[in-house]
Amino acid sequence: MARKPFIAGNWKMNMTAESGKELIAQLKPLVKDTRYNVALCVPAILIPAMVKAAKGSKIKIGAQNVHWAEKGAYTGEISCEQLKEYGVKYAIIGHSERRQYFGETDEGVNKRTLAAIANGITPIVCVGETLEERENGQTEKVLDKQLKDGLNGIEDITKVVIAYEPVWAIGTGKTATPEQAQETIAYIRKKIGKLFDKRSANKVIIQYGGSMNAKNCFDLMEQPDIDGGLIGGASLTTEFAKVVNYLQD
Ligand code: PEP
Repeated sequence: MARKPFIAGNWKMNMTAESGKELIAQLKPLVKDTRYNVALCVPAILIPAMVKAAKGSKIKIGAQNVHWAEKGAYTGEISCEQLKEYGVKYAIIGHSERRQYFGETDEGVNKRTLAAIANGITPIVCVGETLEERENGQTEKVLDKQLKDGLNGIEDITKVVIAYEPVWAIGTGKTATPEQAQETIAYIRKKIGKLFDKRSANKVIIQYGGSMNAKNCFDLMEQPDIDGGLIGGASLTTEFAKVVNYLQD
């Protein structure tokens, strides 16, 4: 069965309840005919209001992280139960900004990912190399470790969405070329096949992320192994709908 494209926005630390509601109201009619899965991963404090705003539409609301513990002394963190209470379907895990600025490790990514799956939340696990790592020819080695350690112990890998986000392309306006993105994502799929099994690897949704926008999304998503995108900047305006509708326009 063909993989169903999945376009997810990452609002990062942007938007307010007011501007978020306004944007979702504008997006709803624009994406109503999409055949793809669509989500917006919003700041935690906006989740209740955005779930309400997106009700009855194709847009599902996701979180930008989730903690592995059921509850307890983890100041600043959010549990699966707290997300589920609002019907949150997705959680980004291991975004490079979390790794870079907040010290998140592959081991933590793994615990968060396992907890999300156990709670019926689809984890969007981010992997990707820095510019230095790419220039030093270490891309595959970096991805191997992120995938092996981050996805350790998962029983059904098809429950995970992977976002390949080269760190040098995030928020920089420098997109990976479609060929670069395809080549690396094909590598990721092959590696998942080795870590799990080939059949499952062929079913895993793998997004590209890094300065994807309405102009470049077609060429990226046309690649055989790219199943959608994780969109930062372009998810903050109605440009997001253009990305969602890329094949239908
Ligand atoms: C991201 O935040 O995951 C991302 C890809 O950001 P941008 O699209 O702005 O590069």
